[in-house]
This record gives sequence, C-alpha cells and structure tokens, in this order.
Amino acid sequence: MTPAHYLQRHEADLIAFLQKLVRLRTVNPPGENYGAITTLLAATLRGLGLTVRRIPIPRALQKKTLPTLLDHPRYNVIGFWDAGAEKTLHFNAHYDVVPVSGRWRHGSAFNPVVEHGWIYGRGTSDMKGAIASLVFALKALRASGVRPNFNVEVSFTADEETDSLLGTGWVADHGRLRADYAVVGEGGEGNAICCGHNGVVWLNVRVHGRAAHGSTPQKGINALEKMSALVLALDGYKRGLARRTFRAPDGRLLRPTLNLGGVFAAGEGGKVNTVPATASFSIDRRVLPVEDIRTAERELRTALKQAAANIPQCRITIEKISDNFSCYHAPTHPLFAAMKRSVTRIRRQPARFTVSTGFNDMHFFAHVLKLPTLGYGPGGRDYHAVDERARIKDLVDSAKIYADLLTTFEG
Ligand SMILES: [Zn+2]
Repeated sequence: MTPAHYLQRHEADLIAFLQKLVRLRTVNPPGENYGAITTLLAATLRGLGLTVRRIPIPRALQKKTLPTLLDHPRYNVIGFWDAGAEKTLHFNAHYDVVPVSGRWRHGSAFNPVVEHGWIYGRGTSDMKGAIASLVFALKALRASGVRPNFNVEVSFTADEETDSLLGTGWVADHGRLRADYAVVGEGGEGNAICCGHNGVVWLNVRVHGRAAHGSTPQKGINALEKMSALVLALDGYKRGLARRTFRAPDGRLLRPTLNLGGVFAAGEGGKVNTVPATASFSIDRRVLPVEDIRTAERELRTALKQAAANIPQCRITIEKISDNFSCYHAPTHPLFAAMKRSVTRIRRQPARFTVSTGFNDMHFFAHVLKLPTLGYGPGGRDYHAVDERARIKDLVDSAKIYADLLTTFEG
C-alpha cells in the first residue's frame, strides 16, 4: 500500500479528526480551549511515534505581553520524527481561529457538517484543515512503512489570528528548532504555491495645534487645517510608492500602498465654537514581499516629518500601532521545484508560484530563521467569514502532496 492509497481509504477518518478539531472552539481573541486542543494534538503526534514537547508560555512572559488574558494560558506543540536523515523538513500550522458572527448554514460555526463534498465550520479552511492533512500524511507514511527523506519537525502554534508573538514568533525564537526547510500550511492552495507575502506598517499621526475661541480663530492653531495640509502633502510620497513594482512569479504586478485615515479623530474637548487643538489619523502602509518593513517605516517617518516641516506651525508626533514582516523566497530553491512537482503530480494540473497579499506565519521561517519556506495547504472558502468551509478533495490531496514531498524531495 502506498501513502496515497492509504489516504484514499482513510478519507472518513481524516474528516472525523478535523471535526474533532473544529468542535474544540479555539477562538482568539481571547484564546479559548488552547489547553484542550494542544493536549489532543500532542497525544496525536505521540501516537504517530514523534517525540513531542507541549510547551506552555511562561506566565511571566504572558503577563508582560497579554496581561488581561492570564486565565487563557498559551501553549505550542513541537513534534520531531527522527527518520535518521541528515536534514529536517518543518511543517507549521496555527490552531487558533477567529471569532464568529452571523447566521451559519448548519446552525453553529462549531458544528462541522459535511455537505456536497465540503466540510463547514470555523477553522476548516483557516487552518485546522491543514493540521488534519499533515497528521494524515504522517499516518499514511507510517502505515505504509515508507520512510521520509527527511526528519519531520512539526509545530502547531497559538495566536496567529492576533500577532503570533506567543505562537510561531515564540517557537522561532525559543523552540530550538532543527529545521532546514519549512512548509507553512496556508498562503497557497489549489495549484498555487506561496513563496512570500506582503507586510504592513501601521502608524498613528497626531497633529498638535492650539485651542482658541471660535470667534477668534487667529489666536489659535487649527489642528484640522494642519492635518488636511499634511494629508495633501503626502500625495507626492504616495505617487512615488505607486511607481515601485514587484512582479510576482505568476506574473501579477504588485505595488506598495498607503491608506490614510482608516481612523481619524479630533482630540478631546471638540466643540463647534472652538479651534481644534489636536487631530489625528492612522496610516496603513502595505509593504511588498521584497521590501523591508523597517526601511519602509523609516522612510515613511521621514516623509511625514519633511511634509510637516514645510507647513507653518505644523507640529506632529508619530505613534507606532504595529507592524508585520513581509517575506519572499524566489522559487529557485530545489524545495520549490519539488513542491511544484508534487502538486502537479497529485492534482494532475500544472502548479504555479504566487505571493499572498495577506500575511501569515511564513515570515518567521523565511525572514527570522532564513529558511527556504513555502506556503501550501488545503485552504477553502470564506476565511474569517460566515460558512467558512474546506473541500474534502483538497484536504485529501494536500495530505497526499505533503507525503509526496517528503518522499520525493531530495534536499
Ligand atoms: Zn490562518
């Protein structure tokens, strides 16, 4: 029996396992049922013969990063299958899911019903489906007695839906990983293999004026007027950004973007008869896979300061909201070629390389650990939305593809 035959015969078991994962409501925020799901995942990997560490985030660290959620402890699971190989291929997936709203076709988002070849429920596509595909790929290798070409390292991580700091971020820094290559179970799906993703820089700009009575505006400094001038002055910077391009490997042309004022606000004490003393607006700068977020932020801060300096009496302070790394690995490394062959072989359609405009945990492996990293998994429809679902054929295909990669990639 080959791994592919095993997977063909055990489709029902794969679905049952995914249903079990979906029923464990690991909603983040706040981070529910992390204890239960990591206990299950650790036991599952142990049952497959892996050496497993289920690591709680130290309380002191959680107190520092998530002080209001101390009653929701964080855990990551790391498994290792020593196949006696020289090199190690790492697979990563996050087990948390986004909160639920709206009316679902099958009553509840946590009632994983199968209908017309799809399985519904929160987390089916993002990304418990990838966990199920990976677990069954390993089961198939074990059951068919096929030895992978690599040691297999697995991480199942927390908090991707918030900021990954105590999830994959923690694992990359403190997990003592042995990986030489990484596959993150999302970002690419179907015939598309992901080799990078956009990053983001979020800032808030506060403009400081001086209050005065509305009847004597000449005695104040109108923060709204200064803010308006500042926003207009950023036009040139925006046009400059639009001239930068990045050609994704599938031919798509991407440009960095700047969105101003997703949130804009008056300061306290605003009244129709006062000169506004403060005004503020947010900035969302999308960073191309090949750009560096630190450089992008520095450049943006400089543009803001220069623009403000050219406007009389325009005093600003710039606050960081947050950021997220971009990453890109040109698909020239043999890992990518091997994955392309595996996807093409199993799906019987030519695979292609792409980049994702959203972000995921790939950058921790690609950017922080500097590993050849790709994103691929079963995916699905309506991520983060009502009636999120995954196609059963894609779940089984992904398991076959992971098993195929492990037995055909030569390093
Ligand atoms: Zn995800």
